[in-house]
Amino acid sequence: MKLDIITIFPDYFAPLDVSLLGKARRNGLIEMNVHDLRLWTHDRHRTVDDTPYGGGPGMVMKPEPWGEALDALTPPAGPPSTGGDQAGGGGLGGVVPRLVVPTPSGRPFTQALAVEYAAEPWLIFACGRYEGIDSRVVEEARVRMRVDEVSLGDFVLAGGEVAVLVMVEAISRLVPGVLGNFDSVTDDSFAPGAMESLLEGPVYTKPPVWRDRAVPDVLLSGNHGAIARWRRDQALRRTVANRPELAARLDPGDLDKHDRQVLADAGFPVDGEHMAH
Ligand code: SAM
Repeated sequence: MKLDIITIFPDYFAPLDVSLLGKARRNGLIEMNVHDLRLWTHDRHRTVDDTPYGGGPGMVMKPEPWGEALDALTPPAGPPSTGGDQAGGGGLGGVVPRLVVPTPSGRPFTQALAVEYAAEPWLIFACGRYEGIDSRVVEEARVRMRVDEVSLGDFVLAGGEVAVLVMVEAISRLVPGVLGNFDSVTDDSFAPGAMESLLEGPVYTKPPVWRDRAVPDVLLSGNHGAIARWRRDQALRRTVANRPELAARLDPGDLDKHDRQVLADAGFPVDGEHMAH
């Protein structure tokens, strides 16, 4: 998998060399390139922003550097690069990249989207700053590649860099070979499948008693059926307590009698074939 990141703050991406991501890079499982957008500016001040048409506060990222950057990274579709040789881009044997543009006004980034992205051969991330990127950049890019505007949540960050780090980490751990134990992915909160709307329950490790707090007996019992049941009960309770809107999305067809009792005890009764909430 190849990831290209365009930003005016390449230093933000130092964590890509650390931990799981650093190892995935060194092992050649994921190729990650960080590009400085200012390489594709041509004035003395390397300007990337200008005042917004229509007035209003803040600045908007100019379309020209973005257009040249995308042309340089995806050469077959664009004019020759004028962005300098540090671009490090280049095609991927006829593969068309998918462009991801973080913005608070995008579609939500979810585990399901991370799974989808992890299956892509090539992703390009465009980190906005100021009031965002001139809208024509996305419009023009859509003509030659798939483009997603993606939000990390209902809050506003200062720039797209942190959002991209979050997405890259969530995507990378889903690439086969990146995690030591891939099975842990299927147990995660939001893992696609029947458990998609369930949060993961509490986890414990040694020692069995710490500061007078004992690990639940069932986890030491060796009874795998009982452990699975206990974990599911905990997941149901935690989902109702912390994310009732997710619990409302549980498919009643996936709930057995015991699940329904646990949900009812947690104040979330299942009414026949429908969630009562
Ligand atoms: N004026 C924009 C708005 O209200 O939608 C906010 C711009 S924000 C200050 C600057 C940049 O931060 C955005 O272009 C985007 O790249 C990034 N950003 C901020 N919040 C984000 C979020 N919730 N999800 C993804 N990216 C975000």
